[in-house]
Amino acid sequence: MNSRVPAGIGSTPTDVRRLFVVLCGFEILPKSISTRDRGRRFILSEPVCAYLLDTTRGWVLLDAGLNPANGRDVSRMQERFWRHGMTAPVIREMHLLERQLGDLGVSFADIGHVILSHLHYDHCGYLNRFAHARISLQRREHALAFSAQAGPGYFRDEYDDPRLQWDLHDGDWEAMPGLRLLDTRGHTEGHQSALVVLPETGAVILPFDAADLRENWDEEVLPGECCDDAAALGAIRRLKDLEKETDGTTLMFHDPVAIQAMKLAPEGYS
Ligand SMILES: [Zn+2]
Repeated sequence: MNSRVPAGIGSTPTDVRRLFVVLCGFEILPKSISTRDRGRRFILSEPVCAYLLDTTRGWVLLDAGLNPANGRDVSRMQERFWRHGMTAPVIREMHLLERQLGDLGVSFADIGHVILSHLHYDHCGYLNRFAHARISLQRREHALAFSAQAGPGYFRDEYDDPRLQWDLHDGDWEAMPGLRLLDTRGHTEGHQSALVVLPETGAVILPFDAADLRENWDEEVLPGECCDDAAALGAIRRLKDLEKETDGTTLMFHDPVAIQAMKLAPEGYS
């Protein structure tokens, strides 16, 4: 048994062999979108990633990247971004998911399981390539995203696809030994974060949008947009406790500085 497997993750060795950080592009946003009431006049270039896991049960993708059309299709950019005074994402050829998977010798068909943190457009952009796969999500997130209350961060045409095979969960759940999903409701109704256990690295905490930037984490600053502020603060604290308890490494999802120190695919963590 791996001595760094944290309590609560089970007594069996982890089924996850490697983790790849796949950088899918950048969003250009006022900083206050990530840090409540801080930096409204600062424009950040925030990375958007997906995490590819090599497991004994096959390839698993955590989040589904950015739809390239959001940074290339002019009429879509006009309708979804420019019309609202926003800047469209920057997605270059080297950021395309298919290209980076290809460099690893992996095809969309090889990925049988996609787990989504939530359904904001920067987390589910390639779902239309996964009609063959199981798509796991919190039930509350699915309900909200398909309701009239879904806010502007939800691009319904990215996920309202009758071919998709949804696998809906309520609260914490374990996908396999070494891959646990954690209910971190607060940023959205059904946000979930992940705890991955790797053979060499040990515990890796993936907050996704529970804490976009290192500043959210260190100073417990709320995300710009939350459905429940108290829950969002609780989510940050819960993940920080987990980092301490597992002696884990935390990979910030949207931090433009932290991303520069990460190993990016085709390099990976084992
Ligand atoms: Zn979000």
